[in-house]
Amino acid sequence: MQQASFVHRLKRGAAAPPVLVVGAGFAGSIVARELAEAGVRVRIVDKRPHIAGNAYDERDPHGVLVHRYGPHIFHTNAERIFRYLSRFTEWRPYEHRVLSVVEGVHYPFPINRTTLNRLYGLDLDEAGAARHFEMAREPRDPVRTSEDVVLNSVGRDLYEKFFLKYTRKQWGLDPSQLKAGVAARIPVRCDDEDRYFTDAFQAMPRHGYTRLFENLLDHPAIHVETSVDFADVDDKDGYAYVVYTGPIDAYYGHRFGALPYRSLRFEHEHVADASRFQPVGTVNYPNDHAYTRITEFKHLTGQEHPGTSIVREYPQADGEPYYPVPREENEDLYKRYEALAQAETKVAFVGRLAQYRYYNMDQVVGAALAAARRLLA
Ligand code: FAD
Ligand code: UDP
Repeated sequence: MQQASFVHRLKRGAAAPPVLVVGAGFAGSIVARELAEAGVRVRIVDKRPHIAGNAYDERDPHGVLVHRYGPHIFHTNAERIFRYLSRFTEWRPYEHRVLSVVEGVHYPFPINRTTLNRLYGLDLDEAGAARHFEMAREPRDPVRTSEDVVLNSVGRDLYEKFFLKYTRKQWGLDPSQLKAGVAARIPVRCDDEDRYFTDAFQAMPRHGYTRLFENLLDHPAIHVETSVDFADVDDKDGYAYVVYTGPIDAYYGHRFGALPYRSLRFEHEHVADASRFQPVGTVNYPNDHAYTRITEFKHLTGQEHPGTSIVREYPQADGEPYYPVPREENEDLYKRYEALAQAETKVAFVGRLAQYRYYNMDQVVGAALAAARRLLA
């Protein structure tokens, strides 16, 4: 009864939209769309000058479609999520491949049979690769940290060559200081599978992510404003409901202390005199350079162009928050903010920064759909 009257109140024709959504990335835009389709009017603001959050893509000055905030490859096992997004975009099939450079040689990554054979000059079949890992691994029980995960599956030599320094660069932390889930994102393979992801659905929005978001937000009940920071919204208290997708600690004025987020600097470059820069979408540099990886966008988008555009990712402590840092103590701190969030009756926190979770895009879509469903009950 109470919920029915809540939605009814939101639908009533007040002058201003009754719901404010903060952040026009996947989390905010999907909640906005779901509310709008249920007849609720929504104002969505983003402090950046554009929609689409970290998935934002654009043509660079040379006309190549690039991802401003680093490579975004869509993959999911959830048909429901894929179908949902298919309402707003056509797709281009794309399966991401990654090579990792160790001592100047390119190896398939995640580590597979080819990686082993090439690295050690072997000729193992699948069973031989499995035996190799079995001999090399350092069993850990329990498996708590990212160091445990890698040592437990492939042993010290591969750990030191492919994981240790990449992780130190990416997070400014040792794998032993990060929860198991970080390294557990990367499988280990005994066969020749060389796709980065093995999800059932792997594709890129045919006309880019920004176009997908334009379609998502194109609804008469949604009012979009970019370059508007939540801090500068002066009628904050006038909304019946706020959906907040920014960093949760910022919402609460960092009252328990700042939650650590890892940032990146993206160095974009256009290479005019070659149509190809590297053999696959992404090349990782675990042990060399200050950047972790180089991505060449034309692999992802299938665009034809006489030149090509790449991005290098330089991890850094300060700057825009891009990654929650999965460590026990950070999650304890997050739980204190989460307790405040759970006591709110007029605010929902959704998304990678607001829920402090290392979510992929499809997981954020799932979280946003669930949040909207809860709201509309
Ligand atoms: P965001 O996209 O961060 O959106 C939050 C928005 O809120 C931002 O636009 C921000 O400007 C706005 N905001 C914050 N505070 C305020 C405020 N005070 N006022 C107004 N607006 C505010 N996922 C994949 O599935 N595949 C990939 O290949 C992949 N690659 C990635 C590569 C990189 C380098 C990074 C950083 C992430 C990658 N991700 C990938 C993860 C993906 O970016 C996220 O899962 C997804 O974009 C999160 O959506 P979101 O809406 O939660 O957050
Ligand atoms: N990782 C690594 N070496 C690599 C690639 C990844 O050690 O060549 C580790 C590193 O800790 C990284 C994590 O695995 O942060 C997850 O990698 P993923 O490619 O999923 O990271 P993302 O694309 O989210 O930055």
